[in-house]
Amino acid sequence: MVPDRKGGGKTLADLGEWGLLGLLRPLLERQTAGFPLPTGDDVAVTPPPRRDEQLVWTIDSMVEGTHFRFWDHPAATAEALGWKLAASNVSDLASKGSTPRYGLLSVGVPKVTPVAWLEGFYHGLEQAAAEWEFKLAGGDTVLAPQWALTLALVGTLPAGGILAGRHEAQPGDRLYTTGTPGEAAAGLEILEGNLRLEEGDHAEALVLRALRPEPRLDFGRLLVERSTRLAMIDVSDGVAKDAAHVAARSDVQMLLREEALPVSPALDAAARASGKPAADFVLHGGEDYELLFASPMEKNRLQALAEQCGVRLTCIGAVEKGEGVTLQAADGTRRAIQREGYEHFQ
Ligand SMILES: [Mg+2]
Repeated sequence: MVPDRKGGGKTLADLGEWGLLGLLRPLLERQTAGFPLPTGDDVAVTPPPRRDEQLVWTIDSMVEGTHFRFWDHPAATAEALGWKLAASNVSDLASKGSTPRYGLLSVGVPKVTPVAWLEGFYHGLEQAAAEWEFKLAGGDTVLAPQWALTLALVGTLPAGGILAGRHEAQPGDRLYTTGTPGEAAAGLEILEGNLRLEEGDHAEALVLRALRPEPRLDFGRLLVERSTRLAMIDVSDGVAKDAAHVAARSDVQMLLREEALPVSPALDAAARASGKPAADFVLHGGEDYELLFASPMEKNRLQALAEQCGVRLTCIGAVEKGEGVTLQAADGTRRAIQREGYEHFQ
């Protein structure tokens, strides 16, 4: 995703303000077909939700230099940026079992940006909207010193059901994660040029985990639907920090068993190449958009639900009285690794 900022192809500077908005209009026209008010007005008007549904809101931003860079890698495209922006929002909705419905977009882009890039970004976002079945109800584009991308999503959730809030964990619950968190962080290290793997296919898989995350929307919905109590969060800051968020809100301690942490062959290869334990990636990585949750439900029932959605599910620990996140090594020794508000607290 290296921008050809020295020339070769039109840039946004060649378009002017009307041309800039004109790039977004065809996308919004497609997305809002059948809406009460045609696109291009001051506001977006969406059809009303059903009476037995409540609305679930979330918003996420990605800023160039803070959340991403224009890495020199064939998979690091503008399309991937659009996909990932949507994925981070969809993942928040997944953590509450909500179904995505409508999105609002705000985009800041430098005027030296090639037109094809902004079109690519919109295309990635449209792919994501099709994949997770939401409509982009409106948006705005402005010139800015660097890329600054914000998407707000609203989803629906049946009224009267559980809410899977972070405050719902109780001592005695088991702690689970979907998938293999840590892989996105390893992929990011490869993109940043800090990590080189012998096995090329592992490297590709890890990079895709960083660039094209797949939120656990189906499993999140099914789990919320079948649970009587559940504390759930999506893994955006690493398992340790996200577990600490739940621990703090629930006023409990999360006990993680080191040997239970799921490690894929790709992550194992990354850990060996980097000289860091695989557990470091799992615990302190980020942007995996897996689901981390505490549940009192019987293990076998949970595994059956995960299987139904084709999702790998691992019990990584338990909820106990206390505070923060504690890691238990294979020999039984325990150490505190994270508390909300403290970075890598040890
Ligand atoms: Mg989240």
